[in-house]
Amino acid sequence: MTTENGTNGTGESLLTVDGLKKHFQVGSGLFGRNKTFLKAVDGINFEIKEGETYGLVGESGCGKTTTAKMILRLEDPTEGSFNFQGNDALTMDRDLVRNYKSSVQAVFQDPWASLNPRMRVGSIIGEPLEVNSTLTKGDIADRVGDLLEEVGLQRYQSNLFPHEFSGGQRQRIGVARALALNPKLIVLDEPVSALDVSIRAQIMNLLEDLQDEHGLTYLLIAHHLATVRYMCDKVGVMYLGRIVEEAPTEELFDNPRHPYTRALMSAALPSHPDIEREEIILTGEVPSPVNPPVGCHFHPRCPSRFEPCEDNSPVETQPTPDHRVVCHLY
Ligand code: SF4
Repeated sequence: MTTENGTNGTGESLLTVDGLKKHFQVGSGLFGRNKTFLKAVDGINFEIKEGETYGLVGESGCGKTTTAKMILRLEDPTEGSFNFQGNDALTMDRDLVRNYKSSVQAVFQDPWASLNPRMRVGSIIGEPLEVNSTLTKGDIADRVGDLLEEVGLQRYQSNLFPHEFSGGQRQRIGVARALALNPKLIVLDEPVSALDVSIRAQIMNLLEDLQDEHGLTYLLIAHHLATVRYMCDKVGVMYLGRIVEEAPTEELFDNPRHPYTRALMSAALPSHPDIEREEIILTGEVPSPVNPPVGCHFHPRCPSRFEPCEDNSPVETQPTPDHRVVCHLY
């Protein structure tokens, strides 16, 4: 939903995430005394405004997919909370939970794996309506036809099976299914990374058109920076379960402050061949989230580390009002 100043959104908060954590127990030690935990998500805060696209970006294993699962209520948080339209999503009564689950839908990465190969496309798209609405079979068939057209497919294709479609078409089916219940928020978990480069732009354009048309809000999970830059209004950069930097998209790409963000961007291809970019090589592997480094979690790989980084965890600062960063340099 593009506004006069070129940004998306109405300014109203749709989702507010506060101190969200997910720790998985991975060992109990002798007599259960030394339990060990994998800190997949370790205390993150962010807010998504209505009509915006918020991106969570980072290397695989940084916690972005676990975050998505908590927002979709597929995983219970260990700690923290999130509010959806002003209601605490973790303490809602049954009616509100049903409403929440209709309002928050998902499109997953792999269109080959996310559609049941034995179901016809009409049943796949119509299933959420059968479960959650009182529409008649005929009304559901009409709605499925409308949804197919909306995502660029044809009504008759509801009789086909998923294997009769290309990868891009299958992702369109996934989008149609996500739209069936008129959601407010769609979690896009790497929605184009399994697709050929030639059709990624088509799916991104489709998602943008649908956002404008329906006032949708997106939480985009991605590791591909070009996708994030193209689609997002605001981006949070995750490292080892924490958001280490967050800013409006252009601000983040023009003026990345955290050494990890800079390294990610230098590893990605520049948007234009004439753009010169200093190459920052990240040494070492991502440390284990079971036993993260003390001090700043990023210090073993950080080209800018200095004296306090090994012992002291940096706290969040805001160099500008809408740019936050967690690093001792600021
Ligand atoms: Fe690098 Fe230190 Fe900043 Fe961590 S706190 S990112 S180690 S400079």
